[in-house]
Amino acid sequence: MRRLPTFSKAALAAKCAFPWNGGIAWPEQITSDAANFGIAVHRAAELLALWGTAPLDAIAEHYGLHGSELKRFHLTVGWVADFIRGEREQWSFAAAEVAFAVDPFVDESRILEQDGPRDYSRARPAELCGTADLVTVVGEQLIVSDYKTGRYKMGADPSADAQMRALGYAAARAYGYDSVEVRLLNVDEGGVRMTRRLLDVIDLATIRLELLGVVRDTGEVHNPTPKPGSHCAQQWCPIASVCPATQKTIAQINPELQLTADIRSPEHAARLREQVAVAKKALAALDTAIKEYAKRHPIPLGNGKVLGQQERTRRTIECTPEAVAALGRYGVSGAVESSVNMAGIKRAVKGVCANGQAAGTMRAIMAELEKLGVVKTRTYTTIAEIKRQ
Ligand code: SF4
Repeated sequence: MRRLPTFSKAALAAKCAFPWNGGIAWPEQITSDAANFGIAVHRAAELLALWGTAPLDAIAEHYGLHGSELKRFHLTVGWVADFIRGEREQWSFAAAEVAFAVDPFVDESRILEQDGPRDYSRARPAELCGTADLVTVVGEQLIVSDYKTGRYKMGADPSADAQMRALGYAAARAYGYDSVEVRLLNVDEGGVRMTRRLLDVIDLATIRLELLGVVRDTGEVHNPTPKPGSHCAQQWCPIASVCPATQKTIAQINPELQLTADIRSPEHAARLREQVAVAKKALAALDTAIKEYAKRHPIPLGNGKVLGQQERTRRTIECTPEAVAALGRYGVSGAVESSVNMAGIKRAVKGVCANGQAAGTMRAIMAELEKLGVVKTRTYTTIAEIKRQ
């Protein structure tokens, strides 16, 4: 049966419809530790919203979180619990993990029954689906919230995010509201950072047109072609490993390479492993060549940025007994491992500070370390994506 993109893939579908109309079977999704961490945080947040409590140890065990990941999970969910506790009293309605199926042709949305998370098998062929982490009503306002773990989409404007726009539209139509507040909640061991925007009646009508465009573009077309670009990696194309455009690029690097995610035998897997090693080397050489080129000629990337040379400064901290004592006074001596660096101190500060206090504490620590004369500044150049002026 024809498959339409989910809300989370709407932005990718707008750039390249080939995963949906190219007739290529999608490779099986392989779960990673990062994905398991994110799912565990979502499960905990869902139960915290519904019951006010969650069996964190059982969730962590189920998703195989151990060691530093387990510590990170407890810190992150601690912040989520604080956030939900602060919000819950205002809710006159709350539902977690709500799956929607929308039909933009008739301008309607419905709540979809599921047999498990992300099960959209009951959707009709012309419906686009997606799941909201949390739907609440505060006063007269409908609110749709989506958790992002780690730095993913940190600070992004939710009214410019294709997934949040679709979720807002779906919730507003399903619950019968003319406007909806959409919230991106970035959660990590440093706290919960929220960005929110209101989608009004005109925004909702515009989103309906955008979704109609997604249905049209991903429909069956004559000679569908992949459209490669930065979106292939940045938006996690589900068929990147088997896409003909990717294969062609690899073949241009080395015509001998025949990479495919369809592993047929142990021997085939061993051969592929060798080829992957060759491909990695070829790609690394290509990456170096691109960076060398970008040093001389900034490369426009088509996303409003250029790849070019940029000067940066890095601050390192000399690990003197006075520096260690100063860090201990702020309860972050855990940042001292074999050496001290800014990133290590930042991580430790986030672990011990209350929500909203980490930045101030970090400034105070750095001022003290500067006074001790242990902060060294080094200037270096790197190749990076830079916003066009
Ligand atoms: S890898 Fe890129 S070009 Fe290929 S299908 Fe995916 S988005 Fe399109």
